[in-house]
Amino acid sequence: MEENQPNEPGPVGETRDILPRDRQLRTPTYDYAYEKSMSHAEAKLFYQHHSNIPSTSPQAAGINPVHFPVPDEDDHPSLAGDIRDDGDTSGASRGMMNFASDSNAVTPELNAICHKIRGLLDLRSKYVGLSLQTLVGNPNNRRDWTIYPPPPEPAWGEDKETTKANEGSQAEQRRRKMGEDIGEDFDLSECMPLPGESDWVFKLDASSVYQVYENDKAASSGHPVVKTPSLRDFYMDLDAVLDVSTDGPAKSFSFKRLSYLEGKFQLYSLLNEYQEIADSKKVPHRDFYNVRKVDTHVHHSACMNQKHLLRFIKSKMKKSPDEVVLYRDGKHLTLKEVFESINLTAYDLSIDTLDMHAHTDSFHRFDKFNLKYNPVGESRLREIFLKTDNYIKGRYLAEITKEVMSDLESSKYQMVEWRISIYGRSIQEWDKLAAWVVDNKLFSPNVRWLVQVPRLYDVYKSSGMMENFEQVITNVFQPLFEVTRDPSSHPKLHIFLQRVIGFDSVDDESKAERRLYRKYPIPKEWNTKQNPPYTYWVYFMFANMASLNYWRQHRGFNTFVLRPHCGEAGDSDHLAVGFLCCHSISHGILLRKVPMLQYLFYLDQIGIAMSPLSNNALFLTYDKNPCAHFFRRGLNVSLSTDDPLQFAFTKEPLIEEYSVAAQIYKFSAVDMCELAKHSVEQCGFELSLKERWLGSNCSLAGVAGNNVAKSNVPDIREAFRHETLVGELALIERYSAQAAGDEVTAVGGYESPIPSILKPSPDSRTSREKSNRSMDSSTQSDTNEFKVPSVLTHLISRGEPDGLDSLDLPQSHTSASNDSGGFVCDNGPNTGGATTRPGALLEQKIFPGIVHERAQRGNVLGRGGPDQEEG
Ligand SMILES: [Zn+2]
Repeated sequence: MEENQPNEPGPVGETRDILPRDRQLRTPTYDYAYEKSMSHAEAKLFYQHHSNIPSTSPQAAGINPVHFPVPDEDDHPSLAGDIRDDGDTSGASRGMMNFASDSNAVTPELNAICHKIRGLLDLRSKYVGLSLQTLVGNPNNRRDWTIYPPPPEPAWGEDKETTKANEGSQAEQRRRKMGEDIGEDFDLSECMPLPGESDWVFKLDASSVYQVYENDKAASSGHPVVKTPSLRDFYMDLDAVLDVSTDGPAKSFSFKRLSYLEGKFQLYSLLNEYQEIADSKKVPHRDFYNVRKVDTHVHHSACMNQKHLLRFIKSKMKKSPDEVVLYRDGKHLTLKEVFESINLTAYDLSIDTLDMHAHTDSFHRFDKFNLKYNPVGESRLREIFLKTDNYIKGRYLAEITKEVMSDLESSKYQMVEWRISIYGRSIQEWDKLAAWVVDNKLFSPNVRWLVQVPRLYDVYKSSGMMENFEQVITNVFQPLFEVTRDPSSHPKLHIFLQRVIGFDSVDDESKAERRLYRKYPIPKEWNTKQNPPYTYWVYFMFANMASLNYWRQHRGFNTFVLRPHCGEAGDSDHLAVGFLCCHSISHGILLRKVPMLQYLFYLDQIGIAMSPLSNNALFLTYDKNPCAHFFRRGLNVSLSTDDPLQFAFTKEPLIEEYSVAAQIYKFSAVDMCELAKHSVEQCGFELSLKERWLGSNCSLAGVAGNNVAKSNVPDIREAFRHETLVGELALIERYSAQAAGDEVTAVGGYESPIPSILKPSPDSRTSREKSNRSMDSSTQSDTNEFKVPSVLTHLISRGEPDGLDSLDLPQSHTSASNDSGGFVCDNGPNTGGATTRPGALLEQKIFPGIVHERAQRGNVLGRGGPDQEEG
């Protein structure tokens, strides 16, 4: 039996001469010979595939398979049509799924992975759909939504037709020149009368989630109109996401797909660069500077640049030194006295003494960074100049805000979504904030608001301000339910909320979160000094917002979305919760460490507002920032400034952000315009404005939704992105469907519907349908009633029939339909396999990494090659 021992040469003649060091190594988990034989099999399949390609294929016809064919000048307008008609679909399913292998060796694992991914996408779509965080879920995207004060008239005639709805005769008279007299076109009396009282009721349930009921009877019997997932369900679903995102084979699968996507983009841009440049040169008037850009993540109290703040403080000291600005320690202090108390004169003030810039000394020091909000390091100057609720009722901050608004309006193409704090310390905060905005007339067509809730429960608790966590929830949400039931109970809040897009959760994510290995207590019983973890905060924001949104949609008021800071530092479960229940996130730099979640963010095109300059100062140096990788892979990335006061040097912080990114990452003009387009797509401005900025079809996917005259992104780029995404989704769909046939166990106990994602299945949420039906049919497609993952909803509800066709393709697609020009730039090394049936679907089943993992696990011994049997 000695020939069977691994260290002894076999009985066959030649192997006797082998030196010990050249002998094949074989361990229980590694078998060189088997790996080799597998890679031979791959090579063979690859060859067979090539010999099976019909002669009509582009390769055979001698056309560069990777190059997008340049059409004749006259044909150019039809380019988009061609792509959508069939080029789109052929490109989508070719390359990534080129082969119908005759071996089923790999598919069970691939099936399992795709099934899990599919399950997670369904899970997300359940959460997002339930909380109405969708384009069609928000009444302010309807045609009949009135924006008040009306946005300025488009300067060029062709756009004028899109403005029809928003013309009130009185508002017309008060129209002002953009950049001047901020707020003068706003008149509180024109917002009256407010809508009446609703007969629905709301109640805080035992687990601190506000529930909405149709009447008192439903309330007493406990039948809310919308059933939000319980804390337990939420954590189970979150665990399902985390389980998949840490699963080894799923991780390597995602990593490979992402690398493939990046490579595919690089190949695409190498070959189509000139075409893109030519296409964008053909567009009259439009360039990077005059495409619309939205700053998707910027904190209001740091929205001005430091020079601006300095100038403002100096002018206040010069013009009104005797104004009483502060009440402290039982004394009223004038501005002059305040500056005397800190030993400063106007002359002393400079950028250096102001010391608010954070690019040198705040790396990994979020605590230090927070102190940078204090001018000259003095919290009282912050109190006077940068707070909305102070002795002067936030007048200084309102004045400087108007100056920033005026700059934005003059620049015309830059919009912002300012984040402003509600702390949850007292129930009056909302009314004070709303009064500050309304009384100071802080209204501009370039500005919308997000409300950020700092996670500071531990601070309030330790200062004795509150007993338990439930009080934070009550303070943040009760006024919102009150004003939704009866707007006249908080009239100014009602008006302010019309300009609020959603909620953010902020604080230092890198703070350690102690894990409790028991069930988390409900908020009423959360009375220790420990701060609840990130996921717990986000759950309660989500659950309460879901109830609130449902009621607001029912009343025809605008709804909110969740757009938290997420994945800037800290645990990867922050990103998992971001994926599960948030509309989009800010930062997300830690996605680079979690390929599975990154791939999911890609598949669902979840918005990521990235701020590489801010990260550079705080958590991650610029060169290591994954922004450029994300962008190339096709994630929905936008650039934002975060805190211009602390990070920017110039008067136009957003342009500064783009320009640094362009220089370091070598972004082309088309890349920059694509980033700008993403920012408009992610933002919460009303659909009618987005249509004005991106074109009237901007809610459609792919080329159909692209207007190169507005976005300056060539159709060829859009087609490439769309086709790639559709291809990835088709891949997941195809293999997950196979898996569903084999095993019915779903991810984390969540039962995913087995029928194809694409075949609309009747939805059980009948009450939602009812309310949806009241919406304007022109903005809402009936597909909203179907339960499909949100990406697909996105594709479908964007009215893109081609998305559907191409996703159906794997079943019927034949290799002969490849003759049109698609972005066939993926015939690279990723392919391998063979067809058994000529003309049948060509698709790839060999994913090398997965084969090897399987082999390593030793469960393929039974079908090994001759070498194996010998051992
Ligand atoms: Zn931020």
